[in-house]
Amino acid sequence: MSKTNQSLMQRRMAAVPRGVGQIHPIFAERAENATVWDVEGREYIDFAGGIAVLNTGHLHPKVVAAVQEQLTKLSHTCFQVLAYEPYVELCEKIAARVPGEFAKKTLLVTSGSEAVENAVKIARAATGRAGVIAFTSAYHGRTMMTLSLTGKQVPYAAGMGLMPGGVFRAQYPNALHGVSVDDAMASIERIFKNDAEPRDIAAIIIEPVQGEGGFYAAPKDFMQRLRALCDQHGILLIADEVQTGAGRTGSFFAMEQMGVVADLTTFAKSIAGGFPLSGVCGKAEYMDAIAPGGLGGTYAGSPIACAAALAVMEVFEEENLLARSQAVGETIKAALREVQNKHPVIGEVRGLGAMVAIELFKDGDPHQPNAELVSQVVVRAREKGLILLSCGSYYNVIRVLVPLTVPDAQLKRGLEIIAECFDELA
Ligand code: PMP
Repeated sequence: MSKTNQSLMQRRMAAVPRGVGQIHPIFAERAENATVWDVEGREYIDFAGGIAVLNTGHLHPKVVAAVQEQLTKLSHTCFQVLAYEPYVELCEKIAARVPGEFAKKTLLVTSGSEAVENAVKIARAATGRAGVIAFTSAYHGRTMMTLSLTGKQVPYAAGMGLMPGGVFRAQYPNALHGVSVDDAMASIERIFKNDAEPRDIAAIIIEPVQGEGGFYAAPKDFMQRLRALCDQHGILLIADEVQTGAGRTGSFFAMEQMGVVADLTTFAKSIAGGFPLSGVCGKAEYMDAIAPGGLGGTYAGSPIACAAALAVMEVFEEENLLARSQAVGETIKAALREVQNKHPVIGEVRGLGAMVAIELFKDGDPHQPNAELVSQVVVRAREKGLILLSCGSYYNVIRVLVPLTVPDAQLKRGLEIIAECFDELA
């Protein structure tokens, strides 16, 4: 009997815990660049990009070739037992890309959460302090410490009891929802006054553009004021670029557009084009704060993932993908603004580079999120052959994460489908 999405869903329900949610009731079988085929042979345009993992598309031939070649040589030794060159070469290349005119070192691990965990460990060891300031609506992962840093606790931390301590919550500036840069700075001052003195704070961690929280970019002047505050008190600034990094926002790292540099930068997702790889890059003096053996892991920076990431970085050069990220982002924003002109339920179209989103309100009121219409649009788009993803604390934001390598015709068709969905549903 041929497999169907429904039959696989039944097996999944019995075999996989429900906590591993599933947004689309589809089982993917194969994919190429911006196209995915399910087990029933249906074809979809992928505007979800594996949650920002596929900036270079599914199975980019250059990434596939690099992985195949690596597989003929070495798949694993554990870098901490027998080292290998691709790890070192990748660290050199990442350090050259991360903003900051200082000596840098890079640690490789496997997931975004693990990268953030390690950034906090490094900041704590480097400063001898425990506190970390994180922001409202932030998303940093699903391990215990990163859950603690994450702003939205339901469903991520619900029912799990005490989370690791030392985390203090400041407001992320969000003009649309009435939080000014001054308000956000004042919320940090309140932490200093009531909860923890600056000398007890190791780091402030921030996403330059909040990802899961709803694609809100931090204003440049906020970043500058954060940097000054960190300098004043000897606090490290951690930029979590897990979702914004690897070219999504039109620069290789989003912080390049913020006019300040972070002390530690985390990256993951698109860096290895679909292979599990993440890391922390930062000032060498901080990165060296932990004694030999205190960092790393069995699969951390596997040769195969490193080969994939080195290929991804070459693809960016060869295909001029940073410029493409800007251009694709402009095309998407222009198309979505046209839909907005017809359908005022779209309260805002926003984005940095190709990290673009629309936010849906009721009655033009930003305080009345329209999650219902978002889920209807996501379902209707899927029926029409387009995979979309929502985000935002109230699930009322639709994010567009096209592969930067998307062919023009597919980009156009995907945007047409979004317009059709609003014509039919709004
Ligand atoms: N930080 C940010 C900014 C993220 O967007 C994510 C994933 N959505 C993570 C950390 C966690 O990454 P992972 O799911 O690979 O653990």
